[in-house]
Amino acid sequence: MSAAATDPDCLFCRIVAGEIPAEVVAETDTSLAFRDVSPQAPTHVLVVPRRHVADAGELADVSPTELAEVTLLARTVAQQEGLDGDYRLVFNTGPGAGQSVFHAHLHLLGGRAMKWPPG
Ligand code: AMP
Repeated sequence: MSAAATDPDCLFCRIVAGEIPAEVVAETDTSLAFRDVSPQAPTHVLVVPRRHVADAGELADVSPTELAEVTLLARTVAQQEGLDGDYRLVFNTGPGAGQSVFHAHLHLLGGRAMKWPPG
């Protein structure tokens, strides 16, 4: 599969295609932001590239511009959500780090106090 392909078996590709419903909060030509179905904070939004890549490192490899666009869209959503510059961005990478969907996605979390280090 080429880096720009869509994987018909990928949950987030199917959300991007509109085949599975999601609460979309923002989008660009290359990225989509939608609410996490199991929120871990008052604001919990996932920002994904439209293209199917497995993780953030692969996205950086195939398109640094799109990686930046994902980050910028997260910042836009944080502003929309009124987070006032206080939010956490997380890319879980690999199953041992908690990645369960193998389509790159940036977690935007905010609206509560954030502990460090995360669990
Ligand atoms: P990760 O564990 O880092 O791969 O994150 C995957 C995230 O996708 C989890 O936080 C899930 O709650 C979320 N998720 C799974 N299915 C859906 C869905 N249909 N719509 C929105 N978020 C989802």
